[in-house]
Amino acid sequence: MGNWRKFRTYRRRNSIMSLVAVLVLLMVAGCSESNQNQRTAAQQSPQTQEVASTPTPQPVKTKVVTTFLPIYLFTKAVAGNVADVEILVPPGTEVHEYQATPENVKAIATANVLVKNGLGLEEFLEDTVKNAQNSKLTEIDASKNIKPLNEISPVEKTAKTEEERDHEHAKGNPHVWLDPVLAKQQVSNIRDGLIAADPGNKATYEANAAAYIKELETLNSEFQETLQKTPNCTFVTFHDAFPYLAKRYNNLKQVAVVEIPEDQLSPTDVQNAINAVKKYKVKALFSEPGVDNKLLTSLSKDLKLSLRTLDSLESGETDPQYYFQAMKANLQTLETACK
Ligand SMILES: [Zn+2]
Repeated sequence: MGNWRKFRTYRRRNSIMSLVAVLVLLMVAGCSESNQNQRTAAQQSPQTQEVASTPTPQPVKTKVVTTFLPIYLFTKAVAGNVADVEILVPPGTEVHEYQATPENVKAIATANVLVKNGLGLEEFLEDTVKNAQNSKLTEIDASKNIKPLNEISPVEKTAKTEEERDHEHAKGNPHVWLDPVLAKQQVSNIRDGLIAADPGNKATYEANAAAYIKELETLNSEFQETLQKTPNCTFVTFHDAFPYLAKRYNNLKQVAVVEIPEDQLSPTDVQNAINAVKKYKVKALFSEPGVDNKLLTSLSKDLKLSLRTLDSLESGETDPQYYFQAMKANLQTLETACK
């Protein structure tokens, strides 16, 4: 296509994000307008293209885009079959440092509703939404009315990473979905947002949300019953993902030595883990898929501590029931590790 040369010229002159905006506008224009209009749009400046992109056909079902896996699972559970639900961050891709794609901008440009976790987790979203230029978009913040935690779990850090931490978690720790009680609040927020955006399906959203919330209540009871048998369990994580879970079930204490999962642990991370084990009565080390397991295995041997996997659910299967499977597996892991 001759258009590609045009795109390449663009890339040299402008930032990647404006290229993304142009791509989206072209794609939107391509859906609703003739080839001739599309070609004309490519030859115009980005400002005039905005005008060309307006007439988009309304989808029959409400189109909902969600940011990453847990929010997708909760939204899919509430929406059932009455709305189309999509995910922006593909499972298996790191959400914390995610870079938006042109497809993401296109998805938001054509959506009715956008659901996010909030609490500063989706750093990619602000520019992506701006570039999508969808004035009719309804945004649902799933963490609305949830009070974020800051520094509840002691984190062993050097001075430099402390600064990074302040930057990253300016809005508090975002991992609220890992506490079944706060997950209920997120499901309720999503339900209310969907009802506001699509009142015609109110009854379905209410019934679906009620069923999922009931399952979350059962899960909460299971955590309470199981974890009261293992008091004072301190564990070390290499991802600051479990402070809400630990706070909910008082017998748990998380010491996070790394805030966001890394492919390679640094020597400082390893030293911080050793320091944490010396400082606290640590029962277990918890890793996650994607963390340098060879290094952690030898570390756990040196420290004479078991190494297990705790799932932050930032990745996994897209069936809403996956939340319960993964959380029950986490409970089993905690029960075994904390004995
Ligand atoms: Zn995380």
